[in-house]
Amino acid sequence: MLPNNDNTCGWLTSLPNRPANPTLSADIFADWLIIGAGYTGLSAARKLAQLQPLDRIVILEANKAGEGASARNSGYLVDSTLNDGHLSDAGLENFKQKYELNKLAMDTVREFVNEHRVDCDWNESGKFHATSLEKNEEKLLNFSSTLTNFGIPHDVIFAEELSRRLGTVYYRAAVRTTGGVLLQPAKLARAMVERLPLSVELFEQTPVTTWHKSEGSFNVATPKGSVRAKNVLLCTNGFLPSLGVVADRAFPLTLTASLTRPLTDEEFETIGSPGEWGVLSAQAMGATVRLTGDRRIMIRNTAEAYNPINMTADTLAKRRQIHFQGLLRRFPFLPPNAIETTWSGVTCISGNSANIFEKLDDGLFVAGCYNGGGIGLATLFGEQLAFKAIGESTRAMEKIEARPQPNWLPPQPFLRWGVKARLMRDRVLATKER
Ligand SMILES: Cc1cc2nc3c(=O)[nH]c(=O)nc-3n(C[C@H](O)[C@H](O)[C@H](O)COP(=O)(O)OP(=O)(O)OC[C@H]3O[C@@H](n4cnc5c(N)ncnc54)[C@H](O)[C@@H]3O)c2cc1C
Repeated sequence: MLPNNDNTCGWLTSLPNRPANPTLSADIFADWLIIGAGYTGLSAARKLAQLQPLDRIVILEANKAGEGASARNSGYLVDSTLNDGHLSDAGLENFKQKYELNKLAMDTVREFVNEHRVDCDWNESGKFHATSLEKNEEKLLNFSSTLTNFGIPHDVIFAEELSRRLGTVYYRAAVRTTGGVLLQPAKLARAMVERLPLSVELFEQTPVTTWHKSEGSFNVATPKGSVRAKNVLLCTNGFLPSLGVVADRAFPLTLTASLTRPLTDEEFETIGSPGEWGVLSAQAMGATVRLTGDRRIMIRNTAEAYNPINMTADTLAKRRQIHFQGLLRRFPFLPPNAIETTWSGVTCISGNSANIFEKLDDGLFVAGCYNGGGIGLATLFGEQLAFKAIGESTRAMEKIEARPQPNWLPPQPFLRWGVKARLMRDRVLATKER
């Protein structure tokens, strides 16, 4: 199962086309081989090049670097994630650890953006956790109590004020946290590709098909060439199971999203000319909706255990209809042709929202499975995986490794059936929030 992205991601189509680096077409040697060039692999390569300047560092990317999920996500760089207000000590401790890790991850992205003067439409506007349903208000109030408990700045906002801020009367309540950032994900990923140190060799359109270890090194095959590597860093996130690792702890989920054309002046005035905002649903499988700085609306309200090799144009068109219905609920004036682009992306999930960061074998390392929140975590984990691979320990690594491990998952096909059943249940519960 190898990635095969559509070419219709609105974040990417707004950027100039970047010609791909060559495909690997020889048998080569590397001290360090990184498989996958999203935020994780690119951050790992950048850090390794600093730590081991004399070594040969090679990245193999199946498609174009930084054009997988890292370019296709919704662009929320988050500090806090919605918590239903766990009142047990364990629940609160877990929330606190996760929050601190996310803060560290945000700082890592901020440092990259500042150091390299990256324009990625960075906006420290925070995020709204919102609902249109009375039944979810209690969940939001509990979340607010947790945030208050830890001194995390936020407001609770109700109907009229909320509709003034968002320009839609759809939502009835929200918790707005101020710590998060909204950004253009493809611009961030593109910057990570363009700022790769010169010593890193990147081969694109070069999928790894098989790998094995023999006599202390790794033999990694691609369609037209191979790499013999002393060390390998696996950074393919949703595609980790297809490389034969962590399939018992992580699984891919395909998400689809759409972006409208910019609102006209008249439409924008109708909604009260609000500033840029991002809403995450208080309901699992509810819609993620953003108003961008250039007045477009992004919506993601579909997620499925779909075979990510091939999301056909027809299948995407069906998802676009679901997105449009979600938009109409919030902005009923939008015409049927308001959506300009629709795309899919593959993310990685574990059963208990835990992440993967570990040494699998001598010379073999893996990081991934960020569940919904990989912009910050992937950037942080990639850098920290480089430290781990050279045998150095850091404070950040201690924080990562103190987090719970992913639960064991049932084997296929039971896993697929289970995921499908869970998604179906969540979809039904979220019908009114999609
Ligand atoms: C629609 C959507 C919305 C999201 N929204 C958010 C959000 O708002 N905030 C947030 O923090 N996170 C979000 N995420 C998650 C986030 O995008 C990911 O967690 C993040 O991109 C992970 O980065 P990565 O580098 O580990 O993986 P990826 O970006 O998936 O990169 C992995 C790379 O490996 C390559 N690859 C795979 N298999 C092979 C192979 N065999 N050989 C060579 N290369 C291979 C792929 O082509 C890909 O380029 C979202 C994801 C999606 C899909």
